[in-house]
Amino acid sequence: MVAGGLMKKNARFQVFNGVFFMMLLVGGWFYYPLGYFMIFCMVMAMGIGIVKGRWWCDWMCPRGSFWDRYLDIFSRRTKVPSFFRSSLFRLFWLGLLMSMLVVSLVPIWGDIYLMGRPFVMILTVTTVIGLVLGVIYNQRIWCMFCPMGTMANWLGKGRKSLKVSGACTDCGACEKVCRMQIYPGSYRVVGKVQHGDCLKCSYCVEKCPKSALNFEEDLKAA
Ligand code: SF4
Ligand code: SF4
Repeated sequence: MVAGGLMKKNARFQVFNGVFFMMLLVGGWFYYPLGYFMIFCMVMAMGIGIVKGRWWCDWMCPRGSFWDRYLDIFSRRTKVPSFFRSSLFRLFWLGLLMSMLVVSLVPIWGDIYLMGRPFVMILTVTTVIGLVLGVIYNQRIWCMFCPMGTMANWLGKGRKSLKVSGACTDCGACEKVCRMQIYPGSYRVVGKVQHGDCLKCSYCVEKCPKSALNFEEDLKAA
């Protein structure tokens, strides 16, 4: 099954990508310019977002891999209150982190080495927040209000849509495997998942006993 093969490949890659994230985080405190990797991630999340929605967040983001492969072990995996993914809360984080970045960068502007430090600091603080909330709620809770994910959501809503066919029986199996706590079956009437936070991971596609889920571009290619 194509989706299953992709899933295993994704999981294997995430094991290494998660280790890379830990090395980046720790290494950043010894060599600040490593923090610039965050700029690369921002550009990639938004650039890919325009074409494929939040695909980057599942398949490539080092921190996303860390959440899935390592934090997942300790997470209680409970329902995340809707407040955490509300537009207001997301805007608050976007504004807060951008302001923190500007305020920290202005006094050291021009010093290429030191300018990496605010990125490392923000990466560390947000990772600690994601870790704590991830243990209490769900390993991907940070991704529900992460500013990069939010921007990818806004830019890529409707891209690479997940289709739900009439074969869906509303059994709920897809909801159980979705780390973003989306229920694809609830979109069976409209025919496609209209949630901008879908990570395009295909976990639900593989899990569906009725083969009712498929990505738009996979259907076109078939
Ligand atoms: S697993 Fe398949 S059949 Fe069950 S609710 Fe989801 S889409 Fe529908
Ligand atoms: S809806 Fe399906 S493809 Fe989208 S994030 Fe959830 S499990 Fe992954």
